[in-house]
Amino acid sequence: MNNKDIATVSETKRILDTFDLRAKKGFGQNFLIDASVVKRIASIAHADHAVIEIGPGIGSLTQQLARVSKHVRAYEIDPRLPRVLEHSLQEFDNVEVILQDFLTCDLDESLKELRAAYHEVSICSNLPYYITSAVLFRIFECKKPVEWITVMVQKEVADRFSSGPNEKEYGAISVEAQYLYDVKKCFNVPSNCFDPAPKVDSAILQFHLLENARKINNTKDYFDFIKICFAQRRKTLLNNLKPLCKDKQQIRNILEMAHVKENARAQELDRDGFLDLYEAYRKECFSND
Ligand code: SAM
Repeated sequence: MNNKDIATVSETKRILDTFDLRAKKGFGQNFLIDASVVKRIASIAHADHAVIEIGPGIGSLTQQLARVSKHVRAYEIDPRLPRVLEHSLQEFDNVEVILQDFLTCDLDESLKELRAAYHEVSICSNLPYYITSAVLFRIFECKKPVEWITVMVQKEVADRFSSGPNEKEYGAISVEAQYLYDVKKCFNVPSNCFDPAPKVDSAILQFHLLENARKINNTKDYFDFIKICFAQRRKTLLNNLKPLCKDKQQIRNILEMAHVKENARAQELDRDGFLDLYEAYRKECFSND
Protein backbone atom coordinates (compact mmCIF):
# COMPACT_ATOMS: atom_id res chain seq x y z
CA MET A 1 0.00 0.00 0.00
CA ASN A 2 1.38 3.40 -0.96
CA ASN A 3 -0.68 6.44 -0.05
CA LYS A 4 2.17 8.95 0.04
CA ASP A 5 2.06 11.80 -2.45
CA ILE A 6 4.02 10.72 -5.53
CA ALA A 7 4.85 14.31 -6.50
CA THR A 8 7.73 14.78 -4.07
CA VAL A 9 11.48 14.60 -4.64
CA SER A 10 11.90 11.56 -2.38
CA GLU A 11 8.92 9.51 -3.61
CA THR A 12 9.71 10.20 -7.28
CA LYS A 13 13.32 9.14 -6.70
CA ARG A 14 12.20 6.02 -4.86
CA ILE A 15 9.86 4.97 -7.68
CA LEU A 16 12.40 5.70 -10.42
CA ASP A 17 15.11 3.79 -8.52
CA THR A 18 12.81 0.84 -7.81
CA PHE A 19 12.20 0.40 -11.53
CA ASP A 20 15.65 1.54 -12.61
CA LEU A 21 14.14 4.27 -14.78
CA ARG A 22 15.39 7.55 -16.21
CA ALA A 23 13.11 10.19 -17.74
CA LYS A 24 13.01 9.96 -21.56
CA LYS A 25 13.52 13.32 -23.25
CA GLY A 26 12.03 12.04 -26.50
CA PHE A 27 8.67 11.50 -24.76
CA GLY A 28 8.75 14.97 -23.16
CA GLN A 29 9.07 13.47 -19.67
CA ASN A 30 9.31 16.10 -16.93
CA PHE A 31 7.76 14.64 -13.80
CA LEU A 32 6.03 16.92 -11.30
CA ILE A 33 7.72 16.79 -7.88
CA ASP A 34 5.70 19.43 -6.03
CA ALA A 35 2.63 17.99 -4.30
CA SER A 36 1.00 21.41 -3.80
CA VAL A 37 1.09 22.02 -7.57
CA VAL A 38 -0.53 18.69 -8.54
CA LYS A 39 -3.17 19.11 -5.83
CA ARG A 40 -3.95 22.58 -7.10
CA ILE A 41 -4.27 21.33 -10.69
CA ALA A 42 -6.58 18.47 -9.68
CA SER A 43 -8.70 20.84 -7.58
CA ILE A 44 -9.47 23.18 -10.50
CA ALA A 45 -9.83 20.50 -13.22
CA HIS A 46 -13.60 19.84 -12.80
CA ALA A 47 -12.67 16.17 -12.70
CA ASP A 48 -15.32 14.90 -10.26
CA HIS A 49 -17.11 12.71 -12.86
CA ALA A 50 -14.58 11.16 -15.26
CA VAL A 51 -11.32 12.57 -16.47
CA ILE A 52 -8.97 11.71 -19.33
CA GLU A 53 -5.29 12.28 -18.62
CA ILE A 54 -2.64 12.42 -21.34
CA GLY A 55 0.70 11.04 -20.14
CA PRO A 56 0.39 9.87 -16.52
CA GLY A 57 4.16 9.30 -16.26
CA ILE A 58 4.76 7.65 -12.88
CA GLY A 59 1.37 8.83 -11.61
CA SER A 60 1.94 12.12 -9.76
CA LEU A 61 -1.05 13.97 -11.21
CA THR A 62 -3.04 10.76 -11.79
CA GLN A 63 -2.95 10.08 -8.04
CA GLN A 64 -4.53 13.46 -7.21
CA LEU A 65 -7.08 13.09 -10.01
CA ALA A 66 -7.99 9.62 -8.71
CA ARG A 67 -8.64 11.18 -5.30
CA VAL A 68 -11.22 13.63 -6.69
CA SER A 69 -12.67 11.75 -9.67
CA LYS A 70 -14.97 8.74 -10.14
CA HIS A 71 -12.81 7.45 -12.99
CA VAL A 72 -9.45 8.33 -14.52
CA ARG A 73 -8.56 7.09 -18.01
CA ALA A 74 -4.88 7.74 -18.68
CA TYR A 75 -3.17 7.34 -22.06
CA GLU A 76 0.56 6.70 -21.82
CA ILE A 77 2.92 6.14 -24.76
CA ASP A 78 5.95 4.80 -22.84
CA PRO A 79 5.80 0.97 -22.60
CA ARG A 80 7.99 1.06 -19.44
CA LEU A 81 5.33 2.88 -17.43
CA PRO A 82 2.16 0.74 -17.06
CA ARG A 83 3.86 -1.62 -14.57
CA VAL A 84 5.22 1.38 -12.65
CA LEU A 85 1.73 2.87 -12.46
CA GLU A 86 0.31 -0.46 -11.33
CA HIS A 87 2.69 -0.19 -8.37
CA SER A 88 2.44 3.55 -7.63
CA LEU A 89 -1.36 3.70 -7.95
CA GLN A 90 -2.16 0.32 -6.39
CA GLU A 91 -4.42 1.91 -3.77
CA PHE A 92 -6.91 3.02 -6.48
CA ASP A 93 -9.50 0.97 -8.32
CA ASN A 94 -10.73 3.89 -10.42
CA VAL A 95 -7.66 4.33 -12.65
CA GLU A 96 -7.46 2.79 -16.10
CA VAL A 97 -4.12 3.03 -17.90
CA ILE A 98 -4.11 2.62 -21.69
CA LEU A 99 -0.72 2.08 -23.32
CA GLN A 100 -1.26 4.12 -26.49
CA ASP A 101 -0.16 7.28 -28.25
CA PHE A 102 -2.98 9.68 -27.36
CA LEU A 103 -2.85 11.13 -30.87
CA THR A 104 -3.91 7.78 -32.34
CA CYS A 105 -6.77 7.01 -29.96
CA ASP A 106 -10.40 7.27 -31.05
CA LEU A 107 -11.17 10.19 -28.76
CA ASP A 108 -14.81 10.57 -29.85
CA GLU A 109 -15.47 6.93 -29.03
CA SER A 110 -13.61 7.14 -25.73
CA LEU A 111 -15.58 10.23 -24.67
CA LYS A 112 -18.85 8.62 -25.72
CA GLU A 113 -18.15 5.57 -23.59
CA LEU A 114 -17.10 7.58 -20.53
CA ARG A 115 -20.05 9.97 -20.85
CA ALA A 116 -22.43 7.00 -20.95
CA ALA A 117 -20.96 5.69 -17.69
CA TYR A 118 -20.06 8.89 -15.81
CA HIS A 119 -22.11 11.61 -17.48
CA GLU A 120 -19.38 14.23 -17.77
CA VAL A 121 -15.74 13.99 -18.86
CA SER A 122 -12.96 16.53 -18.44
CA ILE A 123 -9.40 16.45 -19.73
CA CYS A 124 -6.41 17.21 -17.54
CA SER A 125 -2.71 16.80 -18.28
CA ASN A 126 0.81 17.90 -17.66
CA LEU A 127 1.36 17.81 -21.41
CA PRO A 128 4.44 16.47 -23.18
CA TYR A 129 5.52 19.82 -24.67
CA TYR A 130 6.66 18.41 -28.02
CA ILE A 131 3.01 17.74 -28.99
CA THR A 132 1.14 20.52 -27.15
CA SER A 133 -0.65 21.99 -30.17
CA ALA A 134 -1.33 18.61 -31.81
CA VAL A 135 -2.99 17.34 -28.60
CA LEU A 136 -5.04 20.49 -28.03
CA PHE A 137 -6.26 20.72 -31.63
CA ARG A 138 -7.11 17.00 -31.56
CA ILE A 139 -9.30 17.75 -28.51
CA PHE A 140 -10.86 20.85 -30.10
CA GLU A 141 -11.89 18.74 -33.12
CA CYS A 142 -14.06 16.35 -31.08
CA LYS A 143 -17.59 15.89 -32.43
CA LYS A 144 -19.05 16.71 -29.02
CA PRO A 145 -16.65 19.17 -27.39
CA VAL A 146 -15.17 18.61 -23.94
CA GLU A 147 -16.42 21.18 -21.42
CA TRP A 148 -13.26 21.62 -19.31
CA ILE A 149 -9.64 21.15 -20.44
CA THR A 150 -6.88 21.90 -17.93
CA VAL A 151 -3.30 21.54 -19.11
CA MET A 152 0.28 22.37 -18.19
CA VAL A 153 2.06 24.00 -21.12
CA GLN A 154 5.11 26.20 -21.69
CA LYS A 155 4.43 29.71 -20.41
CA GLU A 156 4.89 31.34 -23.82
CA VAL A 157 2.47 28.83 -25.34
CA ALA A 158 -0.05 29.67 -22.60
CA ASP A 159 0.29 33.35 -23.58
CA ARG A 160 -0.32 32.56 -27.24
CA PHE A 161 -3.46 30.53 -26.54
CA SER A 162 -4.95 32.95 -24.00
CA SER A 163 -4.11 36.40 -25.45
CA GLY A 164 -6.83 38.74 -26.59
CA PRO A 165 -7.07 41.36 -29.39
CA ASN A 166 -4.21 43.86 -29.59
CA GLU A 167 -2.02 41.88 -27.17
CA LYS A 168 1.50 41.05 -28.31
CA GLU A 169 1.00 37.27 -28.46
CA TYR A 170 -2.48 37.37 -30.06
CA GLY A 171 -2.44 35.37 -33.28
CA ALA A 172 -4.14 32.64 -35.32
CA ILE A 173 -3.72 30.08 -32.50
CA SER A 174 -5.49 32.40 -30.02
CA VAL A 175 -8.46 32.93 -32.34
CA GLU A 176 -8.70 29.21 -33.19
CA ALA A 177 -8.56 28.15 -29.53
CA GLN A 178 -11.05 30.81 -28.49
CA TYR A 179 -13.53 29.90 -31.25
CA LEU A 180 -15.33 27.49 -28.89
CA TYR A 181 -13.59 28.18 -25.57
CA ASP A 182 -12.95 30.82 -22.97
CA VAL A 183 -9.23 30.43 -22.36
CA LYS A 184 -7.62 31.43 -19.06
CA LYS A 185 -4.05 31.26 -17.80
CA CYS A 186 -4.54 30.04 -14.22
CA PHE A 187 -1.06 30.12 -12.63
CA ASN A 188 2.64 29.82 -13.43
CA VAL A 189 4.69 26.80 -12.43
CA PRO A 190 8.45 27.33 -11.98
CA SER A 191 10.80 24.82 -13.57
CA ASN A 192 12.09 23.57 -10.16
CA CYS A 193 8.71 21.85 -9.65
CA PHE A 194 9.74 19.24 -12.25
CA ASP A 195 12.32 16.48 -12.48
CA PRO A 196 14.18 16.89 -14.75
CA ALA A 197 13.65 20.67 -14.72
CA PRO A 198 12.62 21.93 -18.17
CA LYS A 199 14.56 24.84 -19.66
CA VAL A 200 11.36 26.89 -19.98
CA ASP A 201 8.81 28.22 -17.49
CA SER A 202 5.40 26.58 -17.45
CA ALA A 203 1.82 27.60 -16.78
CA ILE A 204 -1.58 26.03 -16.26
CA LEU A 205 -4.00 26.85 -19.03
CA GLN A 206 -7.72 26.18 -18.76
CA PHE A 207 -10.30 26.00 -21.54
CA HIS A 208 -14.01 26.28 -20.70
CA LEU A 209 -16.54 25.57 -23.44
CA LEU A 210 -18.63 28.63 -24.33
CA GLU A 211 -22.33 28.13 -23.70
CA ASN A 212 -23.80 29.52 -26.90
CA ALA A 213 -20.84 29.58 -29.23
CA ARG A 214 -21.48 30.67 -32.84
CA LYS A 215 -20.55 27.68 -34.99
CA ILE A 216 -19.17 27.43 -38.51
CA ASN A 217 -20.00 24.38 -40.68
CA ASN A 218 -16.49 23.83 -41.97
CA THR A 219 -14.06 24.49 -39.11
CA LYS A 220 -11.00 23.57 -41.15
CA ASP A 221 -11.86 26.13 -43.82
CA TYR A 222 -12.50 28.74 -41.08
CA PHE A 223 -9.14 28.03 -39.42
CA ASP A 224 -7.35 28.29 -42.81
CA PHE A 225 -9.07 31.65 -43.30
CA ILE A 226 -7.84 32.85 -39.88
CA LYS A 227 -4.26 31.82 -40.75
CA ILE A 228 -4.44 33.83 -43.98
CA CYS A 229 -5.74 36.88 -42.07
CA PHE A 230 -2.62 36.73 -39.86
CA ALA A 231 -0.22 35.71 -42.67
CA GLN A 232 1.73 38.99 -42.42
CA ARG A 233 1.03 40.62 -39.08
CA ARG A 234 2.12 44.11 -40.10
CA LYS A 235 -0.14 44.14 -43.12
CA THR A 236 -3.80 45.11 -43.18
CA LEU A 237 -6.59 42.63 -43.83
CA LEU A 238 -7.07 44.38 -47.17
CA ASN A 239 -3.60 43.06 -48.11
CA ASN A 240 -3.64 39.68 -46.38
CA LEU A 241 -6.97 38.64 -47.93
CA LYS A 242 -5.68 39.14 -51.51
CA PRO A 243 -4.97 35.42 -52.15
CA LEU A 244 -8.62 34.60 -51.40
CA CYS A 245 -10.33 37.26 -53.50
CA LYS A 246 -10.44 38.32 -57.13
CA ASP A 247 -9.65 42.01 -56.50
CA LYS A 248 -9.41 44.73 -53.86
CA GLN A 249 -13.01 45.78 -54.41
CA GLN A 250 -14.19 42.34 -53.41
CA ILE A 251 -12.15 42.59 -50.18
CA ARG A 252 -13.58 46.08 -49.52
CA ASN A 253 -17.09 44.63 -49.89
CA ILE A 254 -16.24 41.90 -47.36
CA LEU A 255 -14.79 44.37 -44.85
CA GLU A 256 -17.79 46.67 -45.20
CA MET A 257 -20.28 43.82 -44.79
CA ALA A 258 -18.46 42.73 -41.59
CA HIS A 259 -18.24 46.32 -40.28
CA VAL A 260 -14.43 46.17 -40.28
CA LYS A 261 -12.39 49.34 -41.03
CA GLU A 262 -10.51 49.30 -44.33
CA ASN A 263 -7.13 49.74 -42.59
CA ALA A 264 -7.76 47.13 -39.84
CA ARG A 265 -5.23 44.42 -39.04
CA ALA A 266 -6.13 40.88 -37.97
CA GLN A 267 -4.88 41.43 -34.42
CA GLU A 268 -7.62 44.05 -33.80
CA LEU A 269 -10.50 41.58 -34.33
CA ASP A 270 -12.08 39.58 -31.52
CA ARG A 271 -13.95 36.23 -31.72
CA ASP A 272 -17.14 37.76 -33.17
CA GLY A 273 -15.16 40.05 -35.45
CA PHE A 274 -13.52 37.03 -37.11
CA LEU A 275 -16.81 35.13 -37.38
CA ASP A 276 -18.47 38.17 -39.01
CA LEU A 277 -15.53 38.56 -41.39
CA TYR A 278 -15.57 34.88 -42.39
CA GLU A 279 -19.33 34.90 -42.96
CA ALA A 280 -19.01 38.03 -45.11
CA TYR A 281 -16.20 36.36 -47.10
CA ARG A 282 -18.33 33.25 -47.73
CA LYS A 283 -21.26 35.44 -48.86
CA GLU A 284 -19.16 37.62 -51.14
CA CYS A 285 -17.03 34.88 -52.72
CA PHE A 286 -19.40 31.89 -52.66
CA SER A 287 -22.78 33.55 -53.02
CA ASN A 288 -24.69 30.28 -53.39
CA ASP A 289 -23.60 29.22 -49.84
N1 SAM B 1 1.80 13.32 -15.63
C1 SAM B 1 3.18 13.14 -15.26
C2 SAM B 1 3.61 14.24 -14.30
O1 SAM B 1 2.90 15.26 -14.25
O2 SAM B 1 4.61 14.09 -13.63
C3 SAM B 1 4.10 13.10 -16.48
C4 SAM B 1 4.04 14.32 -17.38
S1 SAM B 1 5.30 14.34 -18.62
C5 SAM B 1 5.44 16.07 -18.89
C6 SAM B 1 4.47 13.83 -20.10
C7 SAM B 1 4.03 12.38 -20.15
O3 SAM B 1 3.37 12.17 -21.41
C8 SAM B 1 5.12 11.36 -20.08
O4 SAM B 1 4.74 10.33 -19.21
C9 SAM B 1 5.25 10.82 -21.51
O5 SAM B 1 5.74 9.50 -21.59
C10 SAM B 1 3.80 10.93 -21.97
N2 SAM B 1 3.61 11.03 -23.43
C11 SAM B 1 4.44 11.59 -24.34
N3 SAM B 1 3.90 11.53 -25.56
C12 SAM B 1 2.69 10.93 -25.43
C13 SAM B 1 1.67 10.56 -26.33
N4 SAM B 1 1.76 10.83 -27.64
N5 SAM B 1 0.57 9.92 -25.86
C14 SAM B 1 0.47 9.63 -24.54
N6 SAM B 1 1.42 9.95 -23.62
C15 SAM B 1 2.51 10.60 -24.06
